[in-house]
Amino acid sequence: MNVRKVLEVIQSQGTLTRADVMRCSGISAPTVSKAVSALLDAGLLEERETAEFSVGRPGKLLQLPRFSAQVIGVVLEWDYCSVVASGLDGHLHEEKLDRFKTPKTYEELIETISNKILNLVEKQEIPALGVGITVPGLVNSNDGRIFLASNLHIVDGQAPAADIASRTKMECVLVQKSTSLSLSEKTYGSGQDVEDFINLDVTSGFGMGVFTGGQLLAGQQGLAGEIAHITVEPVGGRLCGCGNVGCLETVATDLALTYYVSKRVGKDLDFDTILKLAKQGELDITEELNRTIDFLAIGVAAAINIFNPTNIFVTSRLFDLQKDAFNTLIKKAKNRALKPSSNSCEIERSKGNKYLGAVAGIINHLANGLGPRLT
Ligand SMILES: [Zn+2]
Repeated sequence: MNVRKVLEVIQSQGTLTRADVMRCSGISAPTVSKAVSALLDAGLLEERETAEFSVGRPGKLLQLPRFSAQVIGVVLEWDYCSVVASGLDGHLHEEKLDRFKTPKTYEELIETISNKILNLVEKQEIPALGVGITVPGLVNSNDGRIFLASNLHIVDGQAPAADIASRTKMECVLVQKSTSLSLSEKTYGSGQDVEDFINLDVTSGFGMGVFTGGQLLAGQQGLAGEIAHITVEPVGGRLCGCGNVGCLETVATDLALTYYVSKRVGKDLDFDTILKLAKQGELDITEELNRTIDFLAIGVAAAINIFNPTNIFVTSRLFDLQKDAFNTLIKKAKNRALKPSSNSCEIERSKGNKYLGAVAGIINHLANGLGPRLT
């Protein structure tokens, strides 16, 4: 617990001396000293001399490694996948971001990603501590196997972290995308000092990650917080990737809006094209946007009622489509949710991103090896 607390304090504050860590964490000097040693040994912290002298002797500053060590983030998605290197402080080495079309078969996916990771690691002289892989689907956290990825069925039943680890000989962990986004919000975003918050990722699926009392809600298999496949359109609903009809995921996401706009105009448009046309005033998407936000508000209100969070962070590009779209969501969700819960809950756009989610996933996994598990 102390190791994690020390890591969290340095993650949120940046660069600190041991005395600062003691003050910010409220942990005693010998305990801070022990936790810092464990983190330094694991490569999760680095130490440098300060130029300034305090009380007659040079102090030592602790920080998360930016250039002396790296981790790799892998983001699996239904359309494109990405591999990126990052410092442990969340500084993405974006010049090394490799984004490519998602391969058609699982074997090809594993082969492509493993080769890209090895390429990235070989090119650099700094050690890579591990690989965080995120997937938009249900992951059994006990064995790292994917139960269901309703928009990316080639990974159903597979264990990509184990398969990539055996090819790259690196420490790999698989994290549900919604979980990784809430970890990224906790580690690098607006959730740093927040105990009770929810991150909703409604880009392709309807993913929810929940922190309650400062702990990530996991459930026995890591599946807690699953909200995508509750039925909201029992009659006349669309077939969902899970096999049911009318799930929240089929009506309340960026991908759902893309589907309904494409259906109306009679050709397959992607989100970027819809955004461009809407901005240019060449495509009116008001009807589809209103409907998507209506359903999204139902999901947000349900999350507020069930978990009573202080903050809900929403990851979506729907709000780029029209100026007032986000305010409309806030109004509709607050009207639906129970007043005592909704009055004390801020709904905001999330600051974390999917790459940082994968990075936060592996850092969390490595830190779990040093102390009690968070996930
Ligand atoms: Zn479903």
